[in-house]
Amino acid sequence: MARSVLVTGGNRGIGLAIARELARAGDAVAVTYRSGEPPEGLFGVQCDVTSMADVDAAFGKVEAEQGPVEVLVANAGITRDTLLPMMKEETFTEVVDANLTGAYRVAKRATKGMLRLRRGRIVLISSVVAMLGSAGQTNYAASKAGMIGFARSAARELASRGITVNVVAPGFVETDMTAVLDEAQQERIRQNIPLGRQARPEEIAKAVAFLASEDAAYITGAVIPVDGGLGMGH
Ligand code: NDP
Repeated sequence: MARSVLVTGGNRGIGLAIARELARAGDAVAVTYRSGEPPEGLFGVQCDVTSMADVDAAFGKVEAEQGPVEVLVANAGITRDTLLPMMKEETFTEVVDANLTGAYRVAKRATKGMLRLRRGRIVLISSVVAMLGSAGQTNYAASKAGMIGFARSAARELASRGITVNVVAPGFVETDMTAVLDEAQQERIRQNIPLGRQARPEEIAKAVAFLASEDAAYITGAVIPVDGGLGMGH
């Protein structure tokens, strides 16, 4: 039977690639989007992950359409880069609220159904910069590092109920998020990547699909890098 999957921020970029990969494998896949149109062929629900009321309403719609969420991918995320001396408090808290507290909101809501089912897969999309750090991204790196501690604690809490919680840490991926960097910045990053190129969103999706699969039943609390070797050793 098709599993009920929800991918946050699944209308573009990495999230859309994850949603398409899981749909291709036969799951019933819903995505959240904030503005614009939902992607074709996927069940879309409008949701801003900075609002618990939005998250709750979105889960309600997904449950009514395709049943309780068995696989949650917390992918929605933002950057607001600036150096620390210039970083306003709201620039810091806005990123933490969307990336880390957003992951808490959706994971908490997902456990409601998963605990009843006594099975589930939660995959959080962090980043290589959680471990490496990144100048200009104290807010983003802190939010992404926080996701790892969050995931590992949740993994310990939920393991006895057949629910796994894992993290995928992508490196430098070809999406709108990295398209804002100029060519010189992109070249500098590429020089530090052993595989010498950016990832395609589909390459992140493959790792997520594995963690969401039955084959990954014995993996929980793991951080899987998909970064071309950029973060090796961390
Ligand atoms: P994009 O900027 O292309 O897409 C971000 C997605 O998140 C969009 O769907 C966006 O929705 C959604 N989103 C952002 N804020 C919210 C919010 N408050 N509520 C609901 N949805 C929201 O990013 P990527 O695809 O590149 O990134 C996806 C994830 O992967 C992020 O968590 C990012 O941090 C992480 N990542 C990306 C890397 C990269 O190199 N690209 C590297 C490592 C990690 P909308 O379209 O409505 O704005």
